[in-house]
Amino acid sequence: MFRTLNALILREVRYREADRILTVLTEQGGKQTVTAHGALSRRSKMAAATQQLTYAELTVFEKNNRLSVREGSVKEAFAGLRKDIRKLALGSYFAECLETFAAEDQPEPELLQLGLNCLYALSEDLCPEEKIKLAFELRLAAATGYAPETDQCPVCGRTDIVEPVFLADEGRVVCRACRQARRAFPLEGGMLLAMRQVLQAPPKKILRFQLSPEEIRALGVLAEQWLLRCAGKSIPTLQYYREL
Ligand SMILES: [Zn+2]
Repeated sequence: MFRTLNALILREVRYREADRILTVLTEQGGKQTVTAHGALSRRSKMAAATQQLTYAELTVFEKNNRLSVREGSVKEAFAGLRKDIRKLALGSYFAECLETFAAEDQPEPELLQLGLNCLYALSEDLCPEEKIKLAFELRLAAATGYAPETDQCPVCGRTDIVEPVFLADEGRVVCRACRQARRAFPLEGGMLLAMRQVLQAPPKKILRFQLSPEEIRALGVLAEQWLLRCAGKSIPTLQYYREL
């Protein structure tokens, strides 16, 4: 049976002489494994459409629960990522995070949209890298059931949280006086407001928040640590990005 998938290529592994095994993210089927036979041969028309960090329309043939690509065309190549090694590394980190959190064979429209939006912003230089990264991380955590609680202090109940701090092990914002001995990040200036905006904005507006470069750096540390804690493992592509 033939099917058409709109797929973001998260990972490609070379297999045998000229084949690629792809891990892709699709709206209807979530994370899926697809084989692209001959994608690396010189005559192949599938090479571009089966490259990592490409959004492609793939015509796949399904047999015995295995999918193999018969045709592919590029919908969005994110060309800006290929011209800058740092952006490519950050894009690869986004892909690895999506692969870590996406469910297999279940719809994942929110994750796909988040991935496409953030890769596009990165490719087109719409915002500083660290700003896109922190929005991606917070929103991915939220989309997969790990949204930080930012609305009110769970200790005293105040919604106008006094000198807010983020509890790094619980994913909650509390007043400084309510934190007791727990490990916490101070949320200075507009950081709490920015966090709420990222978590609550419509998908295409998650990068609209305003923060100084220092605040972006501080909130970035928090977002990264929270996402890694939710993942329960390290993400090797993050290490590579940090080393560049
Ligand atoms: Zn409180």
